[in-house]
Amino acid sequence: MVFPSGGPLGQRLNDFLCHHPVARELLADAQWIEGDVHWRKNLPYFSSTYAGDGFVLVGDAGAFLDPFYSPGMDWVSFTSTAAAELILMERRGERIDALIEDHNRRFVGSYARWFEGVYKDKYEYMGDYELMRLGFLLDLGLYYLGVASQPFKRGPKAFREPIFSTARSIPVFRLMRIYARRLAAMGRSRRQRGCFGRYNARHRFMFGGYTFAPASARHIVKALLGWGALELGEGWRTWFGTAGARTAELKGKCGDHKPNAPFPLTPALSVGERETHSPILEVQQRRGV
Ligand SMILES: Cc1cc2nc3c(=O)[nH]c(=O)nc-3n(C[C@H](O)[C@H](O)[C@H](O)COP(=O)(O)OP(=O)(O)OC[C@H]3O[C@@H](n4cnc5c(N)ncnc54)[C@H](O)[C@@H]3O)c2cc1C
Repeated sequence: MVFPSGGPLGQRLNDFLCHHPVARELLADAQWIEGDVHWRKNLPYFSSTYAGDGFVLVGDAGAFLDPFYSPGMDWVSFTSTAAAELILMERRGERIDALIEDHNRRFVGSYARWFEGVYKDKYEYMGDYELMRLGFLLDLGLYYLGVASQPFKRGPKAFREPIFSTARSIPVFRLMRIYARRLAAMGRSRRQRGCFGRYNARHRFMFGGYTFAPASARHIVKALLGWGALELGEGWRTWFGTAGARTAELKGKCGDHKPNAPFPLTPALSVGERETHSPILEVQQRRGV
């Protein structure tokens, strides 16, 4: 399904949404207001300077990355903690030039890494059940382990360390960047081969959730194993760039699984999670949609 081109934006959005039977029902009598529907191709923005002589940026004023995981309040915490420290030091008459330089370096690096590790090319595989499920489990698990748990374990001082600004967090950033790139590459390859979303129908991922308990990390390990299995099963098609993808395209293969076969990849992921059939899809089937 592609976003329609040509015509008023409101009409295109309506047509796009109405591909889905539930949206069709919800929007049956809806009217859009001309000029009130907007399109943004690139949502994220970030600054090159977060503090200077007499100013410091906090929250969305400094950067906004993506609404997908709703990280706005995390950034409000990191930026306002750092801003408060700078302001207090300045008001005590301390020299803060070096600190401002450090502040800018840390936040520029932090936002850039968080964007690259989590959001860059996310939409290449968002919409594919298998790929997004793995990406979601890894993103969320590493976030819980490395970000959300920290203020609970270490108190407010955790807010002094923006995401991926410390040396020990860089390997995690690299891991996230690698699997994000690989899932995006597999998403692109699946689109080329007409296999994107091949297991979407009748699958819905309901995850029990992470906790801060160390045992919760097992879901991350299982997801990493699932990713490894996926690499061996089909990732090899894109290991060597576009040439590999093209060869695979010529072969026209989606894989050895039948299109409606049960999700074959990660039996290990089933612990603590529920994959359920979607009632919406069942309703559609009963209606013969
Ligand atoms: C729909 C939506 C859902 C979201 N969901 C989540 C979520 O679940 N979790 C999460 O963490 N984050 C979420 N966010 C992001 C989060 O809301 C923002 O990151 C956060 O509100 C940023 O806070 P802020 O104070 O920097 O900016 P804002 O909340 O935008 O506050 C800026 C304020 O400044 C005012 N203002 C602007 N210009 C001027 C001016 N010239 N003079 C005076 N006042 C001015 C504005 O009116 C506004 O009140 C969501 C954002 C949106 C839009």
